[in-house]
Amino acid sequence: MGGRIVTEQPQKVPYTTTNAGIPVESDEHSLTVGSTGPILLQDHYLIEKMAQFNRERVPERVVHAKGSGAYGTFEVTNDVSQFTKADLFRPGKRTEMLARFSTVAGEQGSPDTWRDPRGFALKFYTEHGNYDLVGNNTPVFFVRDPIKFQDFIRSQKRRPDSGLRDHDMQWDFWTLSPESAHQVTWLMGDRGIPKTYRHMNGYSSHTYMWINGGGEKFWVKYHLKTDQGIEFLTQDEADQLAGSDGDFHRRDLFDSIASGDAPTWTMHVQVMPFDDAPDYRFNPFDLTKVWPHGDYPLIEVGRMRLDKNPDDFFVHIEQAAFEPSNLVPGIGPSPDKMLLGRLFSYPDTHRYRIGPNYTQLPPNRPRSAVRSYSKDGPMRFEPAQVGAVYAPNSYGGPAAAAQSFGEPAGWQTAGEMVREAYRLHSEDDDWGQPGTMVRQVLDDAERERLVSNVSGHLSQGVSQAVLERALTYWRNIDKETGDRIAAKVSGG
Ligand code: NDP
Repeated sequence: MGGRIVTEQPQKVPYTTTNAGIPVESDEHSLTVGSTGPILLQDHYLIEKMAQFNRERVPERVVHAKGSGAYGTFEVTNDVSQFTKADLFRPGKRTEMLARFSTVAGEQGSPDTWRDPRGFALKFYTEHGNYDLVGNNTPVFFVRDPIKFQDFIRSQKRRPDSGLRDHDMQWDFWTLSPESAHQVTWLMGDRGIPKTYRHMNGYSSHTYMWINGGGEKFWVKYHLKTDQGIEFLTQDEADQLAGSDGDFHRRDLFDSIASGDAPTWTMHVQVMPFDDAPDYRFNPFDLTKVWPHGDYPLIEVGRMRLDKNPDDFFVHIEQAAFEPSNLVPGIGPSPDKMLLGRLFSYPDTHRYRIGPNYTQLPPNRPRSAVRSYSKDGPMRFEPAQVGAVYAPNSYGGPAAAAQSFGEPAGWQTAGEMVREAYRLHSEDDDWGQPGTMVRQVLDDAERERLVSNVSGHLSQGVSQAVLERALTYWRNIDKETGDRIAAKVSGG
């Protein structure tokens, strides 16, 4: 081929350096003796590259390993100051925030479209430090006691012998734990596989305490309703996507925000007067139950909008550390046992997974002043307090000011220690709410898909004894649904 010879001008780019900023000699060739080697140990850049590579990962989260996230803003649209004095819920207030959505049981590389609840973790950078609302896309959970959480998760993850996931383990645990019935019914329904992260709701699931400026206390549950509308994937659609695009939800969130289509959610709360709790018809702190909307209607609070993708996924999302223990003035915990367990376990996992100074990293660093007395430790890079590193001191170090923020966010404790408090209320049973959901919330088509999803799941590697228990479990939830599942499993 004849014609003009075009000589490409090399693009002017900055020179490569080592991590210490020293110019490197080659991006492609290690330093050897002669043309054939051996490689020289003095090629520090080569050694640094290999060593850094070996350390690129932090341990993945034991649960919620695969996730995606973005930054955004929360704006208050209603006046809820009669219930809480928290600054982020002040009328008209705008607060910067970070959100991370995730699957629960799968590993880092697992498909986004497996049937699973989704994590819905929010971090609000408030005037009084970080407030973390670490919820799910479901209002309830599989267990009500943190002593069972580890067993539950092991039953959902991989077998110790083959390293395979196993439906027999899953149904074995579920059917021996009837408190799972509400969450399993939810999971096997349409919302068990959202179409995208943008098309699902978020719930605090737990009950929290709100405290107003006058010191009055209330119990609250949060609901974040998607403004994109609820959409779901059928089992077939999800199975196909799991093979063709395992990152379907991550891609959707990133691409939507990058194209300017920022997703939004409207936050509501259900508010229960503090003194209603003891005599409510079921334990209001039981994580396997919702508060019916008819009893405690939704009250709008504000809107969250996610409009900024991370510029580095590892820095901002993989190292994001959400912890339900981050509660700001005006918000406190409730006696929900699962919540109390999580107050310990989340910061504990961050210390192990990322390191004890994880709160100094960009996604976790409060935007308000930090005046703590902690110091030193691995990878610490922010200087300790100037003046004094102990309290009390007479050199101008910070002093706790409980009076300025009102009474601490505690609750009255009463009486003897018990292990199973939830059976004290008249409707503390396990089957009532999932039965209501099947009979009154789902329509015929949704019930049909529920039967199909459950029978399909039960037809994959579940032993006869566990299958029998699973059919009884479903008949307890709803007799007709159980019978239909039984017929379908036996080929009817
Ligand atoms: P309502 O009729 O007032 O609420 C029913 C709620 O169910 C809806 O508001 C919606 O929640 C949710 N829902 C609708 N379709 C589905 C579906 N296919 N899968 C899962 N959830 C769905 O009745 P109650 O408040 O008395 O609740 C009845 C049952 O509804 C509960 O036992 C529970 O299973 C379920 N539910 C209740 C919620 C609550 O906070 N009360 C929240 C979610 C589910 P949303 O508006 O949040 O989308």
